[in-house]
Amino acid sequence: MTDGCVFCRVIARESPAEIVYEDDAVLAFKDIYPKAPIHLLIVPKRHIASIAALEPDDALVVGRCLLAARALGEQTGYAERGYRVSCNCGPEGGQVVYHLHVHFTAGRR
Ligand code: AMP
Ligand code: ZN
Repeated sequence: MTDGCVFCRVIARESPAEIVYEDDAVLAFKDIYPKAPIHLLIVPKRHIASIAALEPDDALVVGRCLLAARALGEQTGYAERGYRVSCNCGPEGGQVVYHLHVHFTAGRR
């Protein structure tokens, strides 16, 4: 847990969130300000600040985030229709929370 990180606090169950998926490496929960009918955030349980901070050993957990996206596609019923998976990096990439997260959005044409 990294002090002051809002997503580490969610992972530690110290901040409330609507959790929709969990495994040993990854947690997914609803975005509090949804920008699409379905807007979920997938985060590694271990604190990684951003794509810019990734190390080679993080490759597995990044893959696990994408596998969680696949599971959420099936869970939400959007596996066939499709969904968007996106990741903002750095100030000019629109990143506000510096704990790596993948946005899963669906239901907006
Ligand atoms: P980004 O701009 O990629 O850093 O996205 C951060 C996202 O986190 C935004 O879509 C926020 O609405 C969302 N967010 C921030 N705090 C929380 C929280 N405590 N629980 C759920 N979503 C959050
Ligand atoms: Zn964190």
